[in-house]
Amino acid sequence: MTVQKVNLLDYNYQQMRELLDSWGEKPYRAQQIIQWIHQTGLSDFTEMTNLSKQLREKLAQRAHIKLPEIIACQKSSDGTHKWLLKLDCGNCIETVFIPEATRGTLCVSSQVGCALNCSFCSTAKQGFNRNLSTAEIIGQVWLAVRELSLEEGVHDKRVTNVVMMGMGEPLLNFDNVVSAMSIMMDDFAYGLSKRRVTLSTSGVLPELQRLREVSPVALAVSLHAPNDELRNELVPINKKYPLSQLMALCKTYFKNEPRRKVTFEYVMLKGVNDQPEHANQLIKLLRNIPAKVNLIPFNPFPMTHYERSSQEAIDAFRDKLIAHGINTITRKTRGDDIDAACGQLAGEVMDRTSRSQRWKKLHFIPMDGQKQATE
Ligand code: SAH
Repeated sequence: MTVQKVNLLDYNYQQMRELLDSWGEKPYRAQQIIQWIHQTGLSDFTEMTNLSKQLREKLAQRAHIKLPEIIACQKSSDGTHKWLLKLDCGNCIETVFIPEATRGTLCVSSQVGCALNCSFCSTAKQGFNRNLSTAEIIGQVWLAVRELSLEEGVHDKRVTNVVMMGMGEPLLNFDNVVSAMSIMMDDFAYGLSKRRVTLSTSGVLPELQRLREVSPVALAVSLHAPNDELRNELVPINKKYPLSQLMALCKTYFKNEPRRKVTFEYVMLKGVNDQPEHANQLIKLLRNIPAKVNLIPFNPFPMTHYERSSQEAIDAFRDKLIAHGINTITRKTRGDDIDAACGQLAGEVMDRTSRSQRWKKLHFIPMDGQKQATE
């Protein structure tokens, strides 16, 4: 009888203990195995030298460490990396690394495509295909850490932060996302603090309430509009969970940790949501809410009718918010020359022709590691 092998990347610490227990092994082995997989980056059981030979053999018979396959890596002139990853059934997802002076942020996908249909997001245009498994989510972190460690100048290319801001709505893949985030924060795995793992959501309220109970990660809410009429148009899930309910939850979200704030993301769309009246409404909406605001200059993609707000409009909007005591920054647009910026991730499904041509055009690094100078 052939045994269906389990993928150990699917297991967080608690689940690994239970798995080993069910195999008649000592649960404390979970810590060692997790360290080998996630800290040392091993995918071969024979090298896990502090495990008994018998356990290593058992692991080889019953389990494997199966990662998404890297199809391509693009590097932006600003140092941003984008990996195109192939999953089992031919679906592709994208993962982006954004290096900054004092940190390195990995932007991780949670679904193939997205079901939410936000009108200004290119991922929405490809529709929803399926949820990622825990292994496919944490596998993005595993691969990025390994790939960056193989490059020169390792010290400035470390993953210090993870944001669940890639393709998909993470709260609609709740269990796998929460489990993967627990591996990110596990001291025996990636050891990231709860403030350095951020979940971004359009505001799926029941799941957001559940998240507060089970995971201490940082929260970003994709607001994008200061009133229901406009938000219904930009973020259609608002029709189900309107602003009054969303803001009521945000107000008390970190009630037990008064110093923590919710980040509100606000994409700047020319003539749509960037006028002084919108800033005034936003100031009113955020009154008495522990909030930070991230303004995101809109990143265009083929066939969109939206345009990016002018720099003057973005600055004026930001200054107005700051004048009312709201901590506001404008997010730097990173990696837009390789379509790695917010809302540009579309994972090869839509716009296949022009996209694959662009893949070829930019600094394309084939997987044998040789850089090709192309046009
Ligand atoms: N579904 C989640 C996470 C994915 S999107 C969410 O909605 O939060 C990550 C962020 O990028 C969100 O704030 C999203 O609204 C924003 N975004 C999407 N498309 C964009 C675009 N074309 N330009 C700039 N930001 C965009």
